[in-house]
Amino acid sequence: MTEDLRWRRVLLKLSGEALMGSQGFGIDPDVVSRIVGDIADAVRLGVRIGLVVGGGNIFRGVQVAAKGASRATGDHMGMLATVMNGLALADALRGQGIPARVFSAVQMPSICETFTQRAADDRFAAGEVLVFVGGTGNPFFTTDSGAALRAAEMECDALLKATNVDGIYSADPKKDPNAVRFDKLTHQEVLSKGLNIMDAAAIALARDNAIPVIVFSIHTPGALVDVLRGKGRATVVSD
Ligand code: UDP
Repeated sequence: MTEDLRWRRVLLKLSGEALMGSQGFGIDPDVVSRIVGDIADAVRLGVRIGLVVGGGNIFRGVQVAAKGASRATGDHMGMLATVMNGLALADALRGQGIPARVFSAVQMPSICETFTQRAADDRFAAGEVLVFVGGTGNPFFTTDSGAALRAAEMECDALLKATNVDGIYSADPKKDPNAVRFDKLTHQEVLSKGLNIMDAAAIALARDNAIPVIVFSIHTPGALVDVLRGKGRATVVSD
């Protein structure tokens, strides 16, 4: 049943923090299993899904650098953290009967495949879930930028940004009771209002390639399928 889908070929950005649950660090297998269950439901509807996973649950370059390492070293550690998360996600997907393949922006051929657009396209066409790790492969970038880049390369209809909240707010709703939630925005409004949902480079890349960005809570079970049907609670960023 693909006919009621609004989005059929998507890039889903999962932050590393989404995987750590309440334990404050690392990967919570129960949380991974629940998120992967939602992804599996979407795949069974016929949606092509590429995942970009962050690494903030393990290492963030900026935080490592604050403790004395160089920023580039910290970012290399952060990129490696995304690989660990991606391996866990792909394994969990396969465990639920969904074919999945990890493509890394950084070469590590004994562990996973190196990303090339052509190889990824072949596997996408074959119906596999693609798990993109290593961000852009460069320090001083984020996995949000990696997500916008892969969304453009894989010609995705939309970039889905899974977060802890149900959309974009004018301020952090957990800290500011007066924060206003938006149903719709343009990419330019996100940039000009300085809304802190993805880094500016990622939003600009999505804007320049006319890719809508949909922000929703990954913690609401079933929210992913609702978003793919154009329903559910989310903020849609498009021009
Ligand atoms: N990183 C990087 N280049 C990239 C993507 C990520 O250097 O293209 C590093 C950077 O140190 C970042 C870390 O990997 O802090 C983890 O990624 P991110 O902070 O985007 O993860 P998330 O916040 O989504 O968990």
